Formats: sequence, C-alpha cells, structure tokens
Amino acid sequence: MTQIADLPKGSSQRGPKQGGASKRDIVTRSPLRVSSVTESTSAIGTVAASAAAPAASEAETPASLVRISGLYKSYGVTPVLRGVDLTIHTGALTAVLGPSGSGKTTMLRLLAGFERADRGRIELGDRTVDNARNAVPPEKRRIGYVPQDGALFPHLTVRDNVGFGLPRALRKSGRIEELLELTDLAGMAGRYPHQLSGGQQQRVALARALAPRPDLVLLDEPFSALDAALRATVRAEVLSILRATACTAVLVTHDQDEALSMADRIAVLREGRVVQHGTARELYDTPADPQLACFLGEANLLDATLTPRGADLGPLGLLAVLPECGAGCGESGSDKGGATALIRPEQFAVDVCDDKAAADSARAGIPGLVERCDYYGHDTMLTVRPQGKSADNVRPLPEKLLVRLPAGGQLSAGTLVKLTVRSPIAVWRAQEVPAAA
Ligand code: ADP
Ligand code: MG
Repeated sequence: MTQIADLPKGSSQRGPKQGGASKRDIVTRSPLRVSSVTESTSAIGTVAASAAAPAASEAETPASLVRISGLYKSYGVTPVLRGVDLTIHTGALTAVLGPSGSGKTTMLRLLAGFERADRGRIELGDRTVDNARNAVPPEKRRIGYVPQDGALFPHLTVRDNVGFGLPRALRKSGRIEELLELTDLAGMAGRYPHQLSGGQQQRVALARALAPRPDLVLLDEPFSALDAALRATVRAEVLSILRATACTAVLVTHDQDEALSMADRIAVLREGRVVQHGTARELYDTPADPQLACFLGEANLLDATLTPRGADLGPLGLLAVLPECGAGCGESGSDKGGATALIRPEQFAVDVCDDKAAADSARAGIPGLVERCDYYGHDTMLTVRPQGKSADNVRPLPEKLLVRLPAGGQLSAGTLVKLTVRSPIAVWRAQEVPAAA
C-alpha cells in the first residue's frame, strides 16, 4: 500500500487558520483620543465622535466592547432577530456569518443606531445605547459604518469623502492625510469615486469610517461587490488597516472562507439567533450542530455509537472524541448511545490498494472506490464510495465520502483505496441533533 495523504489535522488550505497567537494579538491598542467633534453626519453612516463621549483609558477598556442581549427586531410581522445574544471582544475582528436574509445587516444597523430594538439591550463600553425604550443616536455612539456598497459621495473627491464626517478643526489637523497614508490613497486624494477601482473605493469608505477614531467599526459585506481576483488583495489590505488602528471591528459576511480566514472570532447567525460564537478553529473543529458543520465547510456525517472509550464508528474503528465538543464519553456506561460524528475531508488518510484483497484485508479502515477526483491545485477532493465490508446495519456508512488530498495528490476514478480516520473527532449525541439542527 502507498500512503497518499498524511495531512496534519486542520492543515488544509481551506480549513481555518492555525492556532497560536491571533494576528491581532500583536497589536497594542492605542488609547482612544477624545475629539471635540460635535458635528454629526449624514445617512451614509459615517458617525462622528461625540464630545460627550467619555475618555476610555487603556486601564478602563473593558474586555468586551459590545454586549448584545435578548435582541429582537421585526419589520412589520416578519421577525428578523429573535433573541440575539453576543459579546464582542475589545480589539478583535468579529465576523458575523450567516446566509443572505439571516438578519446580518439588521443587526449592524441596530448596533449603529439606524434601527431601534423591539426588545433586548445593546451595551457599548459602559453605556447602554439601546434598551428598546431609549436609544443613543447614531452620531453619539462612536461607531464607524462601512455600508455594503461603500456609498461614497460621487461629487466629492477622495479627500473630501474621507473628511466628510470630521469637524473643521479635525479636518485641518492632518487627520485626513493620516488616513490617506494609512489606506495608501495619498496619491489619489484629488480623484473622484468613478476614477477609482472597486478595491480603492472600499479603502476610501473604510478611511471615512475610521477618520473620527471610532471605538467600533462595522463593515457590511465590504468585499461582496469585488471580483474574485481582487477580493483576496482587498481583504488583506483591509485587515492590515484594521490591524494598524487596533480598532474593534465587526465584519458581516455570508462567505465562510472569508470569516474563517480573516476573523479572530466568528458568530454564526441563523434564523435570527447566534447559534455559535468562537474562534475559527473552534467553529470548524467543533461546530454546534451538523447543519453548522456543513455550512462551514465540507463535512462527512456518520452514524456512531458513543462508548466510555470513544466513538465507535464500526469499520472505521473506535475514535477519540474532542473534549471541546461537549458530547463527553465519560467513564460510565450511561454515556453510551447513538451519535453523529463529523469527519472533515482532510481527516481521512488514504492508502491506495493494489487489489481487492488488500482493500478487504483485516487491517483497520474501510475500502472504497474513487468515483471522482477534483483537482484544485492547493488540494484535491476525492469522492469515494465505500465498498464491501463497510456495510454495517448499526452504523450504515453514507453512500459517498469526501476525502481531501494535500497539494499534488491525484488519483484516477476507479482506484481502490482504504480510508482511515485521524482522530480526535467531533460528535453530537443523537438527542442533541434534532434540537440544534
Ligand atoms: P442579511 O443582511 O443577512 O442579508 P437583512 O438584515 O438585510 O439580512 O434582512 C433580513 C430580513 O429582513 C430579510 O428578509 C429582509 O427582506 C428583511 N428586511 C430588511 N430590511 C427591511 C426593511 N427595512 N423593511 C422590511 N423588511 C426588511
Ligand atoms: Mg445584508
């Protein structure tokens, strides 16, 4: 047998970034400066700082800048947010991830103060900015907002767009030049929006939102209008600008890869609630339910039996369970029970078998036939149909399994393979699945 795939768990290019220091851990948060801004801005959403806003020193800065609790919002009879609870860590980039129509923009607009809560509470720093009865107006929240389409003023130059939300004194203080420098737009200060590329327009929108030194910046799908080739570059630029300012940021997106690769933390919004909030690694490795597992990337869902010694996956063996997934495999026999196991495609190891006898040998693992081989350059996705002895009435295997090979791996359709699993794996107890999914 030839070992084809021995990819360390989670090292897939499509998986989340590796552990260790967060990319924003290295940033020292600069103390917030209290400006003397009194001017508020337009509907475009660049929110100027309020003169009344209290100074926040490094020592006073709470670990969580935003706390949302029990937030409800309906438009007419249509409920959109149905009890959102979310804490946004100070200095972190939090992605709010959800399919189109899940209420992401509504949540951002409530945070910014453009909409009012029906029920619940939003706290920003040490202030309650909305408790469903009273609300702090947008211009007093110290929040910068980058709307989905950028919404630049077409008749204003780059410089004037960036300075739009600033009071005259700040406009003359060099703040605009600072932002143009930071966003690499210094050479284009006199241009108009139509003379800029999509990526440059996004940088202007971000510069405008950051100009009043907001405590929090909200970005609503800032990359969705960009073509795929530009998107990666603009994402990297935006990330480096946010890192340089050490601003707390909330990025709304429906793009799983964007959330996994960019954000320090991800909150997944589904049917008006946050179903899980954590690091990319936590969500990818131990998603709250099978539906979320599939939403965050390719997933094989297999029947399993939980035993005190791990998850029994029949022919795939007895596999260790990630303690973080909370299914627990304790010592007591009462922990035994039906479960669903998650195996990411990169968790399979693949041995090529020379003949059927090798595939059917007593060695652990399941034999399978490669049905498809999709080559992506950075990796390859195999579709494998389990064969022969993999039939197990207690834990029937899916008809097809997705298996990822690292870069360079390729197998032709019809190749016989044997699959084994690199544990630990995530599992959900059977009784947890219907409630969560
Ligand atoms: P997302 O940003 O996740 O795509 P939105 O927050 O924009 O979702 O919208 C959530 C739901 O609320 C959608 O069904 C949308 O049609 C509806 N909606 C959004 N804004 C309004 C509005 N001003 N009036 C009525 N319905 C709205
Ligand atoms: Mg939206």
